[in-house]
Amino acid sequence: MLINAVGNETVISNFINRYKSNQLGVKVRFTTFALRHIYIFALLFQDIIGHEDTKRALIRSVQNNHVAHAQLFDGPAGGAGLALALAFATFVNCEDPQPHDACGRCASCIKMKKLAHPDIHHIFPLPRAPKDGEELLAELTPQWRTFIAESPYQTLPNWLAHINATNNQQGIIPIKESRNIIKKLSLKAYEGEYKIMLLWQPELLNGQSANALLKILEEPPAKTLFLLITSQSDKLLTTIISRAQRVAVRGFSDAEVADYLQQKGIDPKRAQQIAYLSEGNMATARHLASEADDNRFEWFANWMRTAYRRDYVQLVKLADDFDAFTKEKQKGLFDYGLNLFRDMFLWQNGAAALLRIQNEELTFVQRFGDTVAPAAIALLVEEITQAYYHLERNARAKILFLDLSLTAALHLKQ
Ligand SMILES: [Zn+2]
Repeated sequence: MLINAVGNETVISNFINRYKSNQLGVKVRFTTFALRHIYIFALLFQDIIGHEDTKRALIRSVQNNHVAHAQLFDGPAGGAGLALALAFATFVNCEDPQPHDACGRCASCIKMKKLAHPDIHHIFPLPRAPKDGEELLAELTPQWRTFIAESPYQTLPNWLAHINATNNQQGIIPIKESRNIIKKLSLKAYEGEYKIMLLWQPELLNGQSANALLKILEEPPAKTLFLLITSQSDKLLTTIISRAQRVAVRGFSDAEVADYLQQKGIDPKRAQQIAYLSEGNMATARHLASEADDNRFEWFANWMRTAYRRDYVQLVKLADDFDAFTKEKQKGLFDYGLNLFRDMFLWQNGAAALLRIQNEELTFVQRFGDTVAPAAIALLVEEITQAYYHLERNARAKILFLDLSLTAALHLKQ
């Protein structure tokens, strides 16, 4: 069985998980060939969308022999931080580096592609502290590989869902795991140029682990690199921040997200709508793209127009429709509405240049924005935010929706 993994990371990773948990009911064996193809995503710089300046700076640091021994990739969740750190690790240890990227073919690059390089130690949050004698990090490493292979643009909640963490497991990096890695780092490099500790979400190091890390950052063994990837640098110890060189990673632009989605076969119009909702977070974009095309715009615009007409019979019908949606979809509609209202607010305040929408969404925002008083928009934003909060706490969707509809009907028309 041959799988071409490019563009099908999610499908394949779901498949692997089902295969592992034996839910397929049929016997399927992955050939090494197929596995090789699964792990080929975004370990080279060229596979990462945008971020050209950052890539150039990282490459130049190697070429000029100015590689900082500790680097903090600091950028928003669902951004390119982890992908850039992986590509950098690949480049640093490549046996035949090209001017703008690793070769992708040497023994070191191939081990990196399989995420099985013996000199690269991955540390990621665990759902809980390991029990005595339990090697939780090692046990979860195969899942970590499928997780990155699915996409390197990831978030902590995605990871916790991937490993089936329970609701009260927030992710921690226990001392034992940090110590083990540090021990490995103080040994001579197994084969690569550098030994690398790749630490995802260092803000989750507990006090002891953070101190252990600090100690080794102060006196790092030769030819050792620490690549820390954070999306919440404000939660990191300042002593750690001050010992690492910061690599600022910006969020993806709307155009980059839309491009990525189009490469995955999403049609351009929908890709643009999803990009608009994702706010530079590629993990959110992937999630939204995997949902059925529920045409939020038409649904939301129709709701607002119905409220504006004060068509109460139709509003009650819409409330029934809304009640039947999944909670994710209900929240998605509220989210979407809040975004549109934010744009309406910008439009009303003469900041049209900041609008990130096009086509019929833009027309709707302009027309509605010209008709409805800013105070009504502000009120609805407040009410929808409240409704969202209550929805998450399992309030009855139909009642919330009817409440919102009445507020809208009373205030939209002057
Ligand atoms: Zn190479």
